[in-house]
Parts: sequence; C-alpha cells; structure tokens
Amino acid sequence: MTHDIADAGQPLTILAEDELIFRDSIREFADAQVRPLVREMDDHAKIPRALIDKLFDLGVMGIEVPDAYGGAGGRFFHSVLAVEELSRVDPSIGVLVDVQNTLVINALLRWGNDDVKRRYLPRLSADLVGAYALSEAGSGSDAFALTTRAREDGEAFVLSGRKLWITNGNEADLFITFATIDPAAGYRGITAFLVDRGTDGFSVGKKEDKLGIRASSTCELVFEDCRVPRANVLGEIGKGYKVAIETLNEGRIGIGAQMIGLARGALEHAIRYTKERKQFGKAIADFQGVQFQLARAAVELEAAKLTVYNAARLRDAGRPFLTEAAICKILSSEVAERVSSLAVNLFGGNGFVKEYPVEKLFRDAKIGQIYEGTSNLQLQTIAKQILG
Ligand SMILES: Cc1cc2nc3c(=O)[nH]c(=O)nc-3n(C[C@H](O)[C@H](O)[C@H](O)COP(=O)(O)OP(=O)(O)OC[C@H]3O[C@@H](n4cnc5c(N)ncnc54)[C@H](O)[C@@H]3O)c2cc1C
Repeated sequence: MTHDIADAGQPLTILAEDELIFRDSIREFADAQVRPLVREMDDHAKIPRALIDKLFDLGVMGIEVPDAYGGAGGRFFHSVLAVEELSRVDPSIGVLVDVQNTLVINALLRWGNDDVKRRYLPRLSADLVGAYALSEAGSGSDAFALTTRAREDGEAFVLSGRKLWITNGNEADLFITFATIDPAAGYRGITAFLVDRGTDGFSVGKKEDKLGIRASSTCELVFEDCRVPRANVLGEIGKGYKVAIETLNEGRIGIGAQMIGLARGALEHAIRYTKERKQFGKAIADFQGVQFQLARAAVELEAAKLTVYNAARLRDAGRPFLTEAAICKILSSEVAERVSSLAVNLFGGNGFVKEYPVEKLFRDAKIGQIYEGTSNLQLQTIAKQILG
C-alpha cells in the first residue's frame, strides 16, 4: 500500500501558522518585557500591575475566550504555548496566565450560562484577573473533603469558611470558590460560586512566603457570612465536583507546559554558560562529560514536551486525555527539577547565587510536583488506568 505524504499525519511539534506567530510573539514579549523584571519580582515577591496590564494587551489573559466576548478566540493548545514561553523566562508569570486560562476561563466557558459569560468573559479578557479556590487547610489531595459551607438564603447563598494556597489571590478580582451546600452529601454537595472581590464578608488573608514562584501570590481566602447571589452559581448546584474535576484535568496540562518551559529556560542558560566558562584552558562545554549531561537533559526535555503537546492536542481534538495529562504533569515536573538542578551544577558556584538565573529556576521547579494534584495523585490516575 502506498501513502501520500499528506496522509502521514501532523508531527506533534510542528506548529500551525497561527500557533507559530502566537508562540513567537509571546517569546519576544517574555524576553523583552518579563526578563528584565525577573530578579526584582522574585526578590519582592510581587508582579507589578503594569506587567499584568501588558499581558492583557498581548491577548494572553483571554486566550480561549471567543471573539464575540472580546477574547483571542484561540484553542487550548495556544494556552499551552503561552504558558510554556512565559515560564521559560519566569514560571511565576507562567502560572498567572495558566490559572487565568486553563482553570478560570476554562470553567466559565464550560459551565457558565449566557448571563455569566456575558458578565465575566469580556472583563477576563480585558483587565480582570481570576483565581480558583478549591484547597483548604484540611483538604488538599482529598479536595472534596472541603468544609467551606454555603447556606441557601432566599436568592443568595451565604458562604463561611477558609481557603488556602490560592494562586493570584493578591491580583484577582474574581474567585471561583468551591463550597458545600450539604456536608452530609459528600462530594455531591459541592457547588462552584463566582465571588467578586469587594463582596461583603469576603477578604484575602495571609500571603505565603514561598521557596519558589515567589512573585506569584499564594493567599488564604476568608469567607465570613459572605452573601453570593444565586446568579453567581457556576454550573449546577451540587455539581461543583464536576467543575473541579474537569477543569483540573485540563489545568494539569498547563502545569506540564509551565514545567517544560522552565526546563528549556534552564537548559538554554546552561548551554550559554558552559560555552563561555573556561577551565583547564577550554570552554567547559568542550568536555565530553559536560556535553553528555547537556545531551541527556535535551533528551528528557524532548520526551516531556511530546507528552505535553500530545495531551493538549488530544484535548483540542475532543479525545480522552486524562491519563496523558497525568503522565505529562509528572514527567515534566520531574524533568524540570532534574534539568534545573543540572543547570545549577554546571554554573558551579555561580549556580548557587542570586546574581545568576538558575538557582531561581531550581527553586521554581519544585512546585510542579505539588500543585494541581501531587505526583502521587498523578500516579494514582495512571495506575487506575493501567490496572483497569
Ligand atoms: C504555590 C501553591 C499554589 C497553589 N495554588 C492553588 C490554587 O490556586 N487553588 C487551589 O485550590 N489550590 C492551590 N494549591 C494547593 C495545592 O493544590 C495543594 O497543596 C496540593 O493539592 C496538595 O495538597 P496538600 O498541600 O494538602 O498536601 P496533602 O494532600 O496533605 O499531601 C501531602 C503528601 O501526601 C501525599 N498523599 C496524599 N494523599 C495520598 C494518597 N492517597 N496516596 C499517596 N500519597 C498521598 C501527597 O502526594 C503529598 O506528597 C497551591 C499550592 C501551592 C503550594
């Protein structure tokens, strides 16, 4: 049987014209606008609002929002490209954009009714940062053991409780908040609410002082008799668990993208440095021992990238991707840790100080194995699939 080359299928890493243009514009932005601020943002644990405004102008804060709502009308794969390119320079910016697109906007597109979409999607594309509040002090991996309570009261629900670890807590004006309307109903009581900053009874609490992704804010949220109108229920009452599961399955691919971007950033730094740094009369990149270390890192990064792109393309094709998303997250986060660690080693003493960029990437890599489902939880998903 003969095959025309056109029947061979699209290679995973070949980007379509629109993807290429999009990727290049973000790469350029990240190098020009983000890179000069990385050290300062890490030191001060803060992302300047002016940079967030530029991200809105660039069109990366509403990637999948349809044109009709003022968004970029892109696909999930575009979000993956954006998160990857931004994370190559600063994974804190990568996660800000990731949460906005793969969790918040994704949940609204999938579960929002027309009213919710009309009220929030144009603003999310223009100037509104979103956050996704599921975790609590007592419910992390066991997310559906959450205890934040929502009591029905006329045309409103009254929320009481606390959320922990909420990314974008400082910058966000919209918080997708998961609470239970009936603790006795278990996961079937969980409901998703749209809470605006400024709602009475809602406040942003303590900001965490972190090992890595320091510029990304991670905050506690406090709900004290916080009245949320019924119109701000996202999806069906008692179906919040579905909102959470479906968005997090996709969000995981975004974290994979963050981690391969980070690993590529670290590898690029290591390649540049080892070509410049001389010991024993030649560049350290001339030593075969160093070359093989760099080559191994490139191998691992390529493997991780293929799993991320595959999961994202499966999602856009409407195919099942649950196991692939778990695989891409666990592999990419482990590769990011190994490659950034190697970069620190290859920088020698300079790898250990803040004057050079790789110690930060090493610190930033650790989070990939923790949030949006720890590595053990990804292994649980994969084990379930392979064991049947
Ligand atoms: C920087 C940062 C940002 C975050 N952003 C958000 C956010 O925006 N929104 C949000 O809702 N949450 C967020 N989180 C919370 C994050 O998702 C949780 O920290 C994560 O799910 C793990 O929960 P935990 O911290 O309670 O750890 P635990 O669930 O207590 O886990 C501790 C350890 O036990 C292991 N473990 C637990 N259960 C099992 C099991 N059944 N089998 C095997 N091992 C197990 C875990 O793998 C882990 O190693 C963020 C966290 C951090 C640190």
